[in-house]
Amino acid sequence: MNVLIVFAHPDPRSLNAALRDVAVAELTAQGHTVEVSDLYAMGWTAAVDRADFPQLAPDARLRIAAASSDAFAAGALTDDVTAEQDKLLRADALILQFPLWWFAMPAILKGWVDRVFAYGFAYGVGEHSDRRWGDRYGEGVLAGKRAMLVVTAGGWEPHYGPRGVNGPIDDLLFPIQHGVLHYPGYAVLPPFVAYRVDRLDDAGFDEVADRLRARMRTIETDAPIPFRRQNGGDYLIPSCELRPGLEAPGASGFALHRDERDA
Ligand code: FAD
Repeated sequence: MNVLIVFAHPDPRSLNAALRDVAVAELTAQGHTVEVSDLYAMGWTAAVDRADFPQLAPDARLRIAAASSDAFAAGALTDDVTAEQDKLLRADALILQFPLWWFAMPAILKGWVDRVFAYGFAYGVGEHSDRRWGDRYGEGVLAGKRAMLVVTAGGWEPHYGPRGVNGPIDDLLFPIQHGVLHYPGYAVLPPFVAYRVDRLDDAGFDEVADRLRARMRTIETDAPIPFRRQNGGDYLIPSCELRPGLEAPGASGFALHRDERDA
């Protein structure tokens, strides 16, 4: 497979950088081809602004989705954005790797999503009617590809458990795994999360690195998180509400959107 790692940490001597190198080495040893977008090293521009749309008339109001749609259709997005889109199209699997910062991804990575996932590329795709509501949530330009998160966190694992004070990790990662990755079509693999890493010693690093290597060995075969396909019959169209009675007993909130029938 071709694997793209989009990496967001400012320090090349960081734990995250060491883990990225572990992942690259293991994927390469498995015969995969790996490309890395090291966002800080690339000097990635995080904020969407007018400079993203050079063809926009100077006096025109900047309406982001419309400008994004027009620029994508005209092939007029900036070179840095189209280069990332080309990498995504080349890659069979995408890894987003980052330290958890304020229960979310670092701003530079969010800015990569905001700019690269353009209208017509990652959203605004497909027919919107009373039969379908676009090609999204399991369908779309990136359908057929795999994606996963590699995340480090300072907090302890139980802090992120079902009753943990930080909230369950599946819930915290839902906006990325479901909203950013499943939305444009990816099959999303369970995340790799390393907890309590801020004072990791060598033995701790070896344990985390071994777990990461094991996940890299199964990236092609791991079963994805069973997020439902929007147009697969589970949702009413156009309200996009889950049909009554499909949820697992007691499920609510984000858990509604996982089909656990085969679990
Ligand atoms: P580093 O600081 O680079 O290293 C961590 C430890 O690993 C160090 O002790 C280092 O010596 C050791 N280490 C062991 N082996 C190696 C090796 N081979 N190479 C490099 N280092 C090694 N945590 C949460 O849980 N939730 C949050 O919401 C959250 N928000 C945060 C917000 C901010 C702004 C910041 C700065 C931190 C936050 N944290 C949070 C903590 C954060 O998630 C961790 O600090 C981060 O995941 C650690 O990753 P790192 O790559 O920066 O580690």
